[in-house]
Amino acid sequence: MSNSLIKIAAANLKKAVPLMLKHQIPTTPTNYALWYAYVGEQNPQLNAELDAAIAQNQTCSPVTSEILYRKHVADPVELNVRELKQNLDAMVCELSQSLKDTNADTSSFQAQIDKDFSQLTDIETKGFSLEQVIGVVRSIVKESENIRSSTVNFSNQLQKAQSEIDALKNQLAASEKDVLYDALTNVFNRRAFDADIQAQISLEPEGCCLIILDIDHFKAFNDNFGHQLGDLVLKTVAKRVQQACRDGNKLYRIGGEEFAIIIPSSQIRVARQLAETLRRAIEKLTVKDRRSDKVIDSITASFGVAQWQPKQDFAALIENSDHQLYEAKRLGRNRVMPISN
Ligand code: GH3
Ligand code: MG
Ligand code: MG
Repeated sequence: MSNSLIKIAAANLKKAVPLMLKHQIPTTPTNYALWYAYVGEQNPQLNAELDAAIAQNQTCSPVTSEILYRKHVADPVELNVRELKQNLDAMVCELSQSLKDTNADTSSFQAQIDKDFSQLTDIETKGFSLEQVIGVVRSIVKESENIRSSTVNFSNQLQKAQSEIDALKNQLAASEKDVLYDALTNVFNRRAFDADIQAQISLEPEGCCLIILDIDHFKAFNDNFGHQLGDLVLKTVAKRVQQACRDGNKLYRIGGEEFAIIIPSSQIRVARQLAETLRRAIEKLTVKDRRSDKVIDSITASFGVAQWQPKQDFAALIENSDHQLYEAKRLGRNRVMPISN
């Protein structure tokens, strides 16, 4: 997300939060999204309906909020998860900051009221009649107490919002994990791969390379030693490949026993060398089958490497890597293709 988008998100949030507090709207993720859309003024229908609900009830009930959210905000088309996450992260960051600022403002405001209140005792010495003084004192006391209690109320609400934001942050972290990572191997999943490869190729990245690897005769591990052992082979291979991926290249599990690595900028020769290093590392792996106590040392994988060519889309790059992988399988497995180019 660009800086200007973050600014707009932050500005809208700064508008949305006081409105939510004013109308006593619980600070749930759904409500944030709803009020964020409201202050963004992108949807007149939503604004009219929310205004009407507030005019009628001074607040907006959870059910009405939910209905408005579903009708106007929730996109039935699958959201771009990463962008959403970035958006929410930026919003939550800004929101935390603005709430902290407001909290500080609120306490200094309260201190000022306390001070004014103690000065009231001086009025008597300034030539008012007793009745006047009492009248003034009564009204000021009443006013300050109103302000004081609403300030305390506001401050409490802010604190509540703050803790809900913390919960929201944790939720986001958890959902990011579900959404982007593969549960078995803990490397990135297919969805993360699709998002990253598309974003990467849209930059027209000179020299971008893609390595796809597929474990050889993997089905045999399942058939001979059971699914659990198969899972262990997958985990072991993922861990070893991840270790060997220096330079922070991400590893993605893109299919059952198929993994991918995107190298943002490289010579294809260097990408092939990395694949060769990975191939050798996998070849040396062993796992122990608990049931038979047998050590399995026949794990190998085949690799296809391709480099992005100008004007190619991401699908063509994947297809080229896949084609090379197919060649590696066809020529006998446990090898990197192309041999050279
Ligand atoms: P090749 O060398 O041609 O790649 O042969 P292969 O046996 O590796 O390929 P094939 O596509 O025939 O079999 C892949 C198997 O992987 C089939 C499927 O049951 C298994 N598999 C897919 N996902 C998982 C998983 O998460 N755990 C386990 N244990 N097996 C899986
Ligand atoms: Mg395979
Ligand atoms: Mg396969």
